[in-house]
Amino acid sequence: MKLKPCPFCGGTRIKTRRLSEMLDCAAYPLDFFKECENCRACGPLGVSPTSAGAVWNQRASDTNPINDMATSQERATPTLAAGP
Ligand SMILES: [Zn+2]
Repeated sequence: MKLKPCPFCGGTRIKTRRLSEMLDCAAYPLDFFKECENCRACGPLGVSPTSAGAVWNQRASDTNPINDMATSQERATPTLAAGP
């Protein structure tokens, strides 16, 4: 599976990591996730490296979450400021 670039920094060095290895404990049912080697952004958890890659790609194809947040705040501000 070809992984999409990191949605945060555009980095293409994405590696698979395991939650159980990081926490040094027994494996979780959802144990795998992708991590950007450049900015350390982590993808959602998956049951296998493949499914972790699938959800990583899903998020990577979304619109930039930071821009989305800024947009909704800009939308909310005039509503709050608009008094009677
Ligand atoms: Zn990144």
